[in-house]
Amino acid sequence: MKLYLDPGHGGTDSGATGYGLLEKNVNLDIARRIQNLLTHNFENVDILMSRNSDETKSLNARSNEANAWGADFYLSIHCNAYNGNAQGYEDYIHSSLSDSSQTAQYRDIIHEEIIQLNRLVNRGKKKANFHVLRETTMHAMLTENGFIDHPEDNKLIADENWRQDVAQGHVNGLAKAFNLKRKEQDSGETIYKVIAGAFQTRDNAENRVEYLQNQGIDSFITTVTISGTTWYRVQAGAFSIRENAEARLEEVKKMLVFKMLTS
Ligand SMILES: [Zn+2]
Repeated sequence: MKLYLDPGHGGTDSGATGYGLLEKNVNLDIARRIQNLLTHNFENVDILMSRNSDETKSLNARSNEANAWGADFYLSIHCNAYNGNAQGYEDYIHSSLSDSSQTAQYRDIIHEEIIQLNRLVNRGKKKANFHVLRETTMHAMLTENGFIDHPEDNKLIADENWRQDVAQGHVNGLAKAFNLKRKEQDSGETIYKVIAGAFQTRDNAENRVEYLQNQGIDSFITTVTISGTTWYRVQAGAFSIRENAEARLEEVKKMLVFKMLTS
């Protein structure tokens, strides 16, 4: 599967702005996270980025490049703006396409996965006559990931955990739509991850991370969706040697028991 991944704007074109954030930087960050997740976890995907730095590049240059490369799918990443008066997520395919077209079917799948993880108001599936949707010869979709000038959306956009979740949502959708083959962890190395709790609300997971951080245990949140329910898992280390993972697990267990006794 050949994916042309297009972080919108760049260089002299900042795109939308809000509360000190520039859309071009957010788009690039999300796109890089998508690229990383896809490259590390899936086998049969080849990615070409329209830009991988803060570079000025015309819409024509992007669509021409994707067409010449023979991409199977064009995915353009954006954030929205409306003078602080709107919020949420929406995505676009070209206005000429029917709801039963192959592009619409791909979009349905990807949309479903994105909204499971992005914690934004869902503004729905839309159509427009945008250049990158019109001038590309392959299936093409554009996502608008929140309104950068809306206070609530902006707070999320500024959070790198949120950007990671949004990237994960796009990746889950692409994997499902294009039957991407998951890489087996067969690099000769098994990785032992220490999971120090799983929660249905991010707040609870964040409290756990904060507690562990205060005890000097580096930890972070990963999300996993099981039967439509999102779980926030707190990971407190990854080890290639089982004994080290077990030692960490014991350390974390003692802390949590201690925490339960004292709180
Ligand atoms: Zn944009």
